[in-house]
Amino acid sequence: MEPDEILETALVHSDFGLPACSGTLKGIVVGDRGYVYCGGCRAIVQAVPPLELCRTLDQMELTLDLAIEMCPRCGAVNLLPGASKISAYVCLKCGRGVMKCETTGETGSAW
Ligand SMILES: [Zn+2]
Ligand SMILES: [Zn+2]
Repeated sequence: MEPDEILETALVHSDFGLPACSGTLKGIVVGDRGYVYCGGCRAIVQAVPPLELCRTLDQMELTLDLAIEMCPRCGAVNLLPGASKISAYVCLKCGRGVMKCETTGETGSAW
């Protein structure tokens, strides 16, 4: 079967369920089905509606970029998507702003 559409990604299969496989994942559309498919071992990692395929791949990329930050005020652990690029966030538990120092990596209260 020939895919109608192929979306290349930078996602690696080893990060999504098969540590032994270093193949990269691709989004493919075949007819009215969308698949997240491994170009290395040819496994289908996920089957989704074609319209969801882009969003599914985006979300998989986001999960790789999760930073774990502990709030210095209340000690709550915050999971922050894409946090390697942001320097401040609002604690999910206590609602206070937390600044991350870019040079030392230390956190402190922003306000
Ligand atoms: Zn694979
Ligand atoms: Zn907090």
